[in-house]
Amino acid sequence: MKVKENITVYQCEYCQKKLFLKHAMIKHEDLCFKNPKNNKPCYSCIFCHKEEIRVDFDDPYNPDGYTTKKVEASKCVKLDIIMFPWSIERKRLHEKYETYSEQEPMPRECEHHKYEGSESDFELLFKDLTNYGNP
Ligand SMILES: [Zn+2]
Repeated sequence: MKVKENITVYQCEYCQKKLFLKHAMIKHEDLCFKNPKNNKPCYSCIFCHKEEIRVDFDDPYNPDGYTTKKVEASKCVKLDIIMFPWSIERKRLHEKYETYSEQEPMPRECEHHKYEGSESDFELLFKDLTNYGNP
């Protein structure tokens, strides 16, 4: 067994991950799920709903060239868009696969963002009523 002492290990500022290569850690931190800049408001938003959608995947073994699969997607019911998660975006899979062409990335900031319980239904209703008729 070899024991290596006095080696430099780089640890992520945001999670527990450790790497030996500095440039690899810089890249990891930039993409780390726990990095606040990668934190999508949608995950805690009441307008973000899970929805089963059908998407076409390239499939060279299928005579049609594609297979349709059911996948769970995030739907913003406020903006009426289907969004792909950060895990897809960070790997840039949406640029690679046509599967995501009808979907949009989750916004980093959103004016419509609402936490569950941030405002009661009554308050929301009241707001709606007071906004009613205003431009
Ligand atoms: Zn990390």
